[in-house]
Amino acid sequence: MCKFDFLTQTPIMITGRRDNYKLKGLRLRMVKHLMSLGIEDVKVLQAMLEIPRHYFVETGFEEWAYRDQAFPIASDQTISRPYTVALQTSLLKLTGREKVLEIGTGSGYQTTVLSMLSNRVYTIERQVVLFKQSNKLFADMDIFNIRNFHGDGYQGLGKRAPFDRIIVTAGANDIPQMLVDQLAPQGIMVIPVVNNDKQEMLVVTKLPNGKTSVKKVGECEFVPFLEGTVGSADLV
Ligand code: SAH
Repeated sequence: MCKFDFLTQTPIMITGRRDNYKLKGLRLRMVKHLMSLGIEDVKVLQAMLEIPRHYFVETGFEEWAYRDQAFPIASDQTISRPYTVALQTSLLKLTGREKVLEIGTGSGYQTTVLSMLSNRVYTIERQVVLFKQSNKLFADMDIFNIRNFHGDGYQGLGKRAPFDRIIVTAGANDIPQMLVDQLAPQGIMVIPVVNNDKQEMLVVTKLPNGKTSVKKVGECEFVPFLEGTVGSADLV
């Protein structure tokens, strides 16, 4: 049984938002729930204990942030369910030294978890409103190892490739070859892919010969991975 301590790091504070004992208590309960569902990676659990998940949903819905369910955010998208965040992050097997690409920044919560467990995180969001909101949130939280982009995740980020890890947080129709190409040798990509109307979480590992091995981990539910972008980061 692992022990948790809220005081291991400087608390993440931002102006205009509160993080009180009630919310911390709900966070601890959420983490214990994740453990009961089989999440064992202590670093992932610790990160989720430290990060005030309620900063990523609108004020007034703070307690909803600690329920184990997806929740609506701007642009008709959702913040992923805590269990999904914990599972996808655990599957990445982060040691702290990896360069990570996330597709689908959404609220920025998953990105923030990744930023606590790896050196550099690149993240792409196609919806300009979400891109701008998360950009502000990362700055307000003084997180400096995230580079976020407004763009089409299907293209990846060729100029920053290769990536040791890629995580896709929207349901794809297949495994995009462009992303496989941007994965480093021995790299791991975690991606939900539709199969017979159901989404399956896949772990794609790039072998030294450039081929991939694919492991199915179980069913999941994400908003769709769509091509193109919505809005302009320059004009809004
Ligand atoms: N991890 C996020 C999940 C948000 S939902 C969170 O927990 O908040 C998935 C996100 O993927 C949505 O914000 C959606 O706009 C985005 N998305 C879908 N297709 C995309 C694409 N081609 N490129 C970038 N982002 C995409």
